[in-house]
Amino acid sequence: MSSKIPQQSDIIIHPDGSVSLSFLWKEDPQLKDKPVISDIPIIFENGGSGYDECEMCPKLCGFNRLKGVHPRCGDDQLRVSTWGVTMGDEASIRGTHGSGAIMLAGCPLSCPSCHNPEMVQTGFVINDKEFVEICYELESKFVHNIQILSPTVHMGRLIPILKYLKKKKFKTPILFKSSGIESMDYLKKLRGLVDIYLPDFKYGPCSSFAKRSGFSDYFELAQENILEMLDQVGETRYGKDKILLSGVLIRHVMAPIAEVERRAIYHFLDFLQDRCEISKMDNFVNLE
Ligand code: SF4
Repeated sequence: MSSKIPQQSDIIIHPDGSVSLSFLWKEDPQLKDKPVISDIPIIFENGGSGYDECEMCPKLCGFNRLKGVHPRCGDDQLRVSTWGVTMGDEASIRGTHGSGAIMLAGCPLSCPSCHNPEMVQTGFVINDKEFVEICYELESKFVHNIQILSPTVHMGRLIPILKYLKKKKFKTPILFKSSGIESMDYLKKLRGLVDIYLPDFKYGPCSSFAKRSGFSDYFELAQENILEMLDQVGETRYGKDKILLSGVLIRHVMAPIAEVERRAIYHFLDFLQDRCEISKMDNFVNLE
């Protein structure tokens, strides 16, 4: 493997309308070559639980994902849209060597302006052992965290994987990037397994966008989940160069939501500002 560091990540909109993330690289002679992780002695019992009557998000719809493919959430397979090192996050996340991102496919939300390739069909299937191998591969690139994006519909498989990494004393902090709509039962199972939560706080109360996303009570759900996340990992803790080691970073992308929604979101963020890192991003691109 050549010595490279991530330079930049970008959202790419393809001519056919599909969207993906790009990871760009530049050579860094200071980084030492590391072998490809191809033969980690992992004894892993493949498989998750909860797919026969899915309750991984607050819809609690009970869809049997062992017998059928849910149009947004998929079956019981772990599907990856893309993975690599990204420099597209906040300074406390990307640091100098980047964040090791694993973007999963599938999402229970159907946001009108989704920026990520979360559609189930775009993901390639990997088994649990391969997921762990990707984590070690990213760690070998000196990333500051392993960032699992769009994890909600894969919680049944991710929880045993994260337990395995914990047991193996995996060193790099685990970052859980979500839309803040895991079901509370599943979110509670992550206690002790996640170091950093990065919830994307999208919509305020009575939001037409939230309604169109399929979660008209998004505002209330996200607040409850963020408080649970904070309870699990505590206040923000930083290491060298102000890089986040543990805690909650709440991201709010400045989508064109109603002013009353924005005020309610800011009110909640103000309430938590001494305990979390707050990020307001103005890079919204309307993909409707
Ligand atoms: S994650 Fe998907 S299948 Fe599972 S409860 Fe939510 S909507 Fe239903």
